[in-house]
Amino acid sequence: MRAMQTESRKVSRRRFLKETALAVSGASAFAHLRRGLLRGAGNEFGVVVLLGPPGAGKSEQSRRLTERHSIPVISTGDLLRDHVRRGTPLGLQADSYMKAGQLVPDSLMNPILEDRLSQPECERGFILDGYPRTLAQAESLDALLKRRGLPPHIFLIEVPTERLLKLLTGRRLCPRCNRTYNIYFQPPKKENLCDADGTPLVQRPDDKEEVIRQRLETYQKETQPVIEYYAGQGRLVHVNGDQPPDKVAAEIESKLTPP
Ligand code: AMP
Repeated sequence: MRAMQTESRKVSRRRFLKETALAVSGASAFAHLRRGLLRGAGNEFGVVVLLGPPGAGKSEQSRRLTERHSIPVISTGDLLRDHVRRGTPLGLQADSYMKAGQLVPDSLMNPILEDRLSQPECERGFILDGYPRTLAQAESLDALLKRRGLPPHIFLIEVPTERLLKLLTGRRLCPRCNRTYNIYFQPPKKENLCDADGTPLVQRPDDKEEVIRQRLETYQKETQPVIEYYAGQGRLVHVNGDQPPDKVAAEIESKLTPP
């Protein structure tokens, strides 16, 4: 009887040691993987800035970059829409500018962005979609990246205006997973339903034609100087956005050089 009890204690001790060893190696493998991903993303990319007119496909390309390289996308439009949805004081103030197709003032925009960029997942790099949109924003971004030692890769996705109008009026969005579609160029498999989760697609309120014209005018007036600012410093990388999203993604990938 005693021999059986001793044997049983030995077996449970062996099992305990084996399970503990597995748990420890699993945890450290996870930590190693996580460190590797962050280090890889940080060393490889720094910060990717996607510039281009509204509708040029910046969100779609950001989504592909984040999936491929495990660095977060910071879309200032999404950040603002989230504040509007939650009815925060900042969101309530930003809403009227967004509905009119105008830029949200920096006094509202910058604190929202800085708060997001201070989160640990942004430490080693991120993708910026929709920022900077003015010369002042480009200068404050330069200062921030210098402080943090993160070099930016600046891409300009270029699309002819006639195509942009179709891209914007035809754009539909899944409110659940944020996946984007276009009824002319990239329709969902089933009419008006998200391919990934079957949610009915919606049109953004600022994708209506009058607002679109205003947004394109705002882009010409406010964001053109940003493009000239980066071009003048030889930091702007041009990407042809007038081709299918896969080809645009391949072009960006081929032009991403280590910082
Ligand atoms: P987007 O989704 O990038 O097209 O942005 C939608 C709207 O959010 C814009 O029309 C602006 O009203 C506002 N917005 C987004 N990013 C910025 C920014 N960097 N500065 C000011 N307003 C912005």
